Amino acid sequence: MNKELMNEILNNIKENDKILICRHTRPDGDAVGSTLGLKHILKDSFPNKDVRVINNDYAEYLNFLGEEDKEDLEFYKDSIAIIIDTSIPSRVSNNHYKDCKMVIRIDHHINLEPYGNLEWIEEEKSSASEMICEFYLAFKDELVLSKEAATCIYTGIVTDSGRFKFDSCNGDTLRKASVLLDKGIDVDSLFAHLYLTDERSLKLKGHMLNNFKITPNGVAYIYVTKKLQKKFNLTSDESSAMISVIESIKGCLMWIAFIDTPDKSIRVRLRSRFVNVNEIAEKYRGGGHAKASGGTVYNKKEINSLLMDADKVLKEYKENNEGWL
Ligand code: AMP
Repeated sequence: MNKELMNEILNNIKENDKILICRHTRPDGDAVGSTLGLKHILKDSFPNKDVRVINNDYAEYLNFLGEEDKEDLEFYKDSIAIIIDTSIPSRVSNNHYKDCKMVIRIDHHINLEPYGNLEWIEEEKSSASEMICEFYLAFKDELVLSKEAATCIYTGIVTDSGRFKFDSCNGDTLRKASVLLDKGIDVDSLFAHLYLTDERSLKLKGHMLNNFKITPNGVAYIYVTKKLQKKFNLTSDESSAMISVIESIKGCLMWIAFIDTPDKSIRVRLRSRFVNVNEIAEKYRGGGHAKASGGTVYNKKEINSLLMDADKVLKEYKENNEGWL
């Protein structure tokens, strides 16, 4: 436990009345849950402080967790910034954090590029939300955890641990989740918001199930082109969610989705079991976690090159390891 670091973070929070909280672009449940969760904790514990979550983008499917704050260029100058769940500065969804007088970073990604004045990084943690829960528990005599805060943080843990499935999830993760659940979270509603699908995306899932491809050594992949997105009338969140369609194929230890984006780049989402994918992502303008990473490519040639790299890594892994499925 990083009690000393957490103490320093709490002291900085206590000493400052204006606090900006940010997360990474293309937010997921952990990015939104951890930032809004911390905001609730700080607002409820220190009602006189001005605590705001300000970012440049949002994910519609996570709107049920509550709204973030509006842009206010006057806010930054005397604030401290707390950036959560964001491994590199170019992924922070609000560049104005650089105008703040201090940057605190809380993250569980592989640490590629330190950029905070104070950094609390734990790469093995299931989620940044788990770290926020740990922060609350370390000072629970002085901090307040409402049902709303617990719901946000629980959402982050559930989504980033694949519903408690990934190997980053351990006994501690579940003990923290139990503290959150005890606050009375409405799990029926939470899981409905997160995992229900509608007819359009179900039809695309059907299309993807019929059309995914597999490289010679077992990398499964799909390409959600602009044309498909148009045909099925999909949002970018829905298009990105298609990665889950190919996650459970025996022998396919890596699975990758390529998704056309409006800015003409192609988003890459890489997932795996047993074998790691982060180094492949790093080669293609990305990074993330050992078994869940993201990157960007710009054309079919780069798609093919990435697939060849992934296939080679998987071939070597299969040749040198046993017990994989
Ligand atoms: P995604 O597929 O976008 O859900 O990303 C999986 C993980 O990799 C998340 O933890 C992201 O924060 C991280 N990630 C995604 N894209 C990048 C990138 N371009 N650079 C660094 N990390 C990334």
